[in-house]
Amino acid sequence: MSIARLRRFVADMTSLVGGAWQDRDEAAIVEIGRTLLVDLVKHDDWLPEAMAKCPPHGYAANLLWCDPFERFSIVSLVWAPGAETPVHDHQVWGLVGILRGSETSQRFVLDPASGAIVKGSRATLGPGEVEVLPPAEGDIHQVANARSDGNSISIHVYGGNIGAMRRRRFDPASGAVSEFVSGYTNRELPNLWDHSEEVRSTS
Ligand code: FE
Repeated sequence: MSIARLRRFVADMTSLVGGAWQDRDEAAIVEIGRTLLVDLVKHDDWLPEAMAKCPPHGYAANLLWCDPFERFSIVSLVWAPGAETPVHDHQVWGLVGILRGSETSQRFVLDPASGAIVKGSRATLGPGEVEVLPPAEGDIHQVANARSDGNSISIHVYGGNIGAMRRRRFDPASGAVSEFVSGYTNRELPNLWDHSEEVRSTS
């Protein structure tokens, strides 16, 4: 078990959003960020135990890292059996990779004629799979643990400090739209930076 993979991912994402032209090219960030996240969730040997703890009901949203300029954040979503989010949007680009178990993402679209929220496509993702949520194409969805008999964990990367952003929540039955700020479950971040053992072992 090594947090080195997460440290590498943070460094690669920081390079990606920090370039002179890349930081204006969202499509490039999403495309390259997707391949980086595919690589990260391919391995399940790096997530600290404290970030993988499952609540008895519902889900935990544990912040793993937020870029100092809030250009991106990385969150571990830990799902109890049958847990689901409200229908919501993100306001920024998003990438979702499955580390353990399985998750469903039900898309919704705003019908411009009636203003109603209607169901769109539905995807079920398994370990190692990554979904892209580009706001330009509509990013309203509801996410749920696809497992009724076990926990699931997904790693989310967003183009902002997602827990501290004003976003929208939708009630498909009534069509009501409300604002919310999701926050984070954890109070402390994992320590990515103590790679002293590696340094000691190389003489
Ligand atoms: Fe979402």
